[in-house]
Amino acid sequence: MKPWVKLRRAVMAPGIALLCLASCSGAGDGSGQAYSESFFAMDTYMTFTIYGEGGEEALAQAGDMIAELEGLWSVTDEGSDIYAVNHSDGAAVAVDERTAELLAFALHMAEETGGALEPTLYPVLRAWGFTTGENRIPTEAELGELLGRTGRDKVHISEDGWVFLEAGTMLDLGALGKGCAGDLVAGLLREQGVTSALLDIGGNIQAIGAKPDGSSWRVGLKDPFSGGVLGVILMTDGAVVTSGNYERYFTGEDGKIYGHILDPATGRPVDNGLASVSVIAAGSRGKLCDALSTALFVMGPEGAQDYWREHQDFDMILVTQEGEILVTGGIKDSFSLQGGYGGMTVRVIN
Ligand code: AMP
Ligand code: MG
Repeated sequence: MKPWVKLRRAVMAPGIALLCLASCSGAGDGSGQAYSESFFAMDTYMTFTIYGEGGEEALAQAGDMIAELEGLWSVTDEGSDIYAVNHSDGAAVAVDERTAELLAFALHMAEETGGALEPTLYPVLRAWGFTTGENRIPTEAELGELLGRTGRDKVHISEDGWVFLEAGTMLDLGALGKGCAGDLVAGLLREQGVTSALLDIGGNIQAIGAKPDGSSWRVGLKDPFSGGVLGVILMTDGAVVTSGNYERYFTGEDGKIYGHILDPATGRPVDNGLASVSVIAAGSRGKLCDALSTALFVMGPEGAQDYWREHQDFDMILVTQEGEILVTGGIKDSFSLQGGYGGMTVRVIN
């Protein structure tokens, strides 16, 4: 299991997509003390802020849970469930209940999104070096061979939590693991009686309740082009998850930018006119938001709008490469552009 590295608030991730604009540091405002901790886990920076009595103990338990989940879902940690499944060479592997649930959900969402979300992309992601940091551009022949090993039909889960993967196939649940971790931590905190907390999981936000004074949290939406704060979403008790290829990328020897979200049809980084996709939903539905943010990014501006029209059980904000902002009706009144962005067009999706 990876060490639980505590960074003590001063450090913020350069790639954070959503910024906590609430008073995440310091003491409470009279309605409850704030307990806050920043740390690095699941390959990203996280900041948890919990208000009110019992917050300190709840914060410690939340940290332990993140370390435990990372120990289950890491692709590189040799003790993890995912590592065991990926190296099973076709044998069935017993996994933790939470891993089985996450994987079952990932397969369900792969089906729902027509394969835009593909939980078996690990061999392809590894070839691009996104999991090792040793980035390179694979050849078409290599991509073709690796894509032949992907597909949700190559994964089977039994009712009692055994996972069977065809030899050569490998999982990467990085597209929805952090959202799921947010849901599980939120569930733990609610059980502990926490009614006001903000979890910033590498820029993905899970809010519990409202701020201690009853007002909404202010969640900043990052400008995918400059890194500034493009706009603010007012939110209580919900999740906001953003995907974009600006979050993790490398510049190839050919001078082109290659991002970490791949189109499972081609095995190549998505390049479809979208700069970022944020998915917003009430309650603890971070797992859904996370799966969707990645899948809608793959689908592109038109595909994402079509998917939303068919489902409508979430809200989204699309930022296109041309700088247009498309928002769904449910979020339009709680979203406002920051100063300096006033001239940008915001279009409501119907
Ligand atoms: P997110 O930041 O939630 O959009 O997740 C992106 C991560 O999911 C990447 O860093 C990869 O590990 C993985 N990934 C990339 N493309 C896909 C895809 N099409 N389906 C599933 N996982 C993907
Ligand atoms: Mg995602």
